[in-house]
This record gives sequence, C-alpha cells and structure tokens, in this order.
Amino acid sequence: MFALPPLPYAYDALEPYIDAKTMEIHYTKHHQAYTDKLNAAIENTPLSEQSIEEILANISRQSTAIRNNGGGYFNHNFFWESLTSEASSPSGVLADALVETFGSIELFKEKFETAASGQFGSGWGWLVVSEAGLEIGATPNQDNPLMDVSPLRGTPLLGVDVWEHAYYLHYQNRRPEYLSAIWNVVNWKKIEERYATYSS
Ligand code: MN
Repeated sequence: MFALPPLPYAYDALEPYIDAKTMEIHYTKHHQAYTDKLNAAIENTPLSEQSIEEILANISRQSTAIRNNGGGYFNHNFFWESLTSEASSPSGVLADALVETFGSIELFKEKFETAASGQFGSGWGWLVVSEAGLEIGATPNQDNPLMDVSPLRGTPLLGVDVWEHAYYLHYQNRRPEYLSAIWNVVNWKKIEERYATYSS
C-alpha cells in the first residue's frame, strides 16, 4: 500500500504563485484520491509488493486505472518535492548543462513553458535526463517519462502539473501565466540533487 507523503510545506507557503486554496484541494482531494484509487487497484495483487517506479516502468501490462492513478500518485509526490518557498536558480553542473543544451537559462524556461503550455488538455510538462542528455517534453493525463508507454522517456528532473485543477482558481484559463510564475517556486536544489543522482 502506498502512503500519501506529508506535504513538505504549508498550504500557503507558495503564495502568491500558488494560492493556499488550490494547494489544499490539490493535495487533500486530488492527490489523496489518486493514492486511494491506486491502492484499491493493486490490493491483493503482486503489484502491492513493487515500488511505484517498478510499476510505472511496466505500465503497458496494467489497467488504465493503475496507469492513471499510479501516474497521479507518483507525479504529485514528485511535483511537491520540486517546489519550495525559498527562491533559487539553477547552479553548478546542471546550470552548465542547461546552457549547453538550450542556449541559456532563459531559453530553457521559454522552451519548457511552450511545451507545457502546448499540451492539449490535461497533462504535465517535464525536464528529463537520459543518455541523450537533457530533454523537454509533455505527457497527457497522468502519464510520465518513467512509463514504458510514454514517447518521452528518461529520468525526470522537473515536472509541472498543467491540469486545470493546478491553476484554475487563481489563473483561470491563463495557463501560460501560471507557467511563467512557477519559476518563482521551483526547488532548484532538489532538481540539482536529482541530476547528480542520475550522473553518479
Ligand atoms: Mn494535479
């Protein structure tokens, strides 16, 4: 059984970029529901012995319920950890790799915002690393780059939720505005840690 991890900050910690009401509903209702439905779907099956990463890596063998809720469970754990109230910017080897791949940090952000903003309907924007290097992309619904069914594959470094439930209360239909604001709360220390883990 998978547990809903505690939110690493208060509901209002990311104000004004992510409002407290959105954070509370997103965590206590949406993330909780993905967790509960995943647990219901894997109860008394061999999947209950596996890690979420193992399940996602072989998701093509599983039901739509497990794909949607397993993705939703992992993606939100990953998203909360990717954010912080302490402003930061990319540094070190990750900053170097971003500049080398995308031309500059600003160009990286622009390309990320374009990819996430262009995802039709619900989904996620991603920065991933693989043998091919850094890559930006988007996935529909609760799919992610760990899933064997995903055209975008790799180790996720940053994921941003672009479901309307992630921004609609504060930004209404203005997804690009939400995306340009998100940089104020991205936890670059955590993203650098993920990059270092991949590289080691
Ligand atoms: Mn969400």
